[in-house]
Amino acid sequence: MQVDVLTSGIWQTNSTVLSHRGTCLVVDPAYFPRELAALAERAAELGGATAVCFTHGHWDHVMGHTTCPAAPVWMHQGLVDDIQAQGARAAKYLADAREFDSRWYVPRPAGHRWPQTLRGLADGEALELGGAPLRALHLPGHSPDGLALVAEDAGVLLCGDYLSPCEIPFVEDAPRYRATLLRLLELLAQTGCDVIPGHGPRLDAAGATALARADLGYVDRLIDAAARGDHAAARDAPWPRAHEVVGMREAHLENCKHVLAVQDDPSQAP
Ligand SMILES: [Zn+2]
Repeated sequence: MQVDVLTSGIWQTNSTVLSHRGTCLVVDPAYFPRELAALAERAAELGGATAVCFTHGHWDHVMGHTTCPAAPVWMHQGLVDDIQAQGARAAKYLADAREFDSRWYVPRPAGHRWPQTLRGLADGEALELGGAPLRALHLPGHSPDGLALVAEDAGVLLCGDYLSPCEIPFVEDAPRYRATLLRLLELLAQTGCDVIPGHGPRLDAAGATALARADLGYVDRLIDAAARGDHAAARDAPWPRAHEVVGMREAHLENCKHVLAVQDDPSQAP
């Protein structure tokens, strides 16, 4: 199995093309029109996309599905359910894309919409690409609809917005984020796969493991501070990386808000 990564000019967002025996799978098609044209060209060279896959529904990972209009789109079943129910979360993802495109005059001639043909995936589901096996994993915490693809033949794990060297963890649900990190650590130890994160450069298993451990330390500090009701300790939790990146302080404070909201209002606990 061949792996091609095309990296967007925004946030080093990765679109990954897995290909095997004249067919390919496009994961997280992103973002700007010229980048999507290049992605479509690459997919055509590799025999055409048999499917698209979203690692999660956030707007920066999904808008390019229209470049492969005939392909079914794989995603976590929870996202399928939300799209089909016209839920608030799916609507917000599209609204976020619309707002970004409007702000930066990004043309989106195919519109801001979800794909027609959705395939919901369950945790552990076995898939194949040109006869080669793939495995889907449900990884909530960053968002409830997080999905990883394990392509052991290619030696890669595509995990969406976990384990990015460019940013701190963006934590919507801390206990689930923690469980996902533990699962990723176990998987890295078992498979020795490289990681292609949603944003930033590919990591070998050792680099990804170090990053996951650092993120676990950060998330544990947030959870411990919240359990003690100690808002100051949550705010003062040191970030694992990206100290100089604009927006990370706000992201950290947003993480604190999520973790402390659950502590202050147990009804919000998962
Ligand atoms: Zn995301």
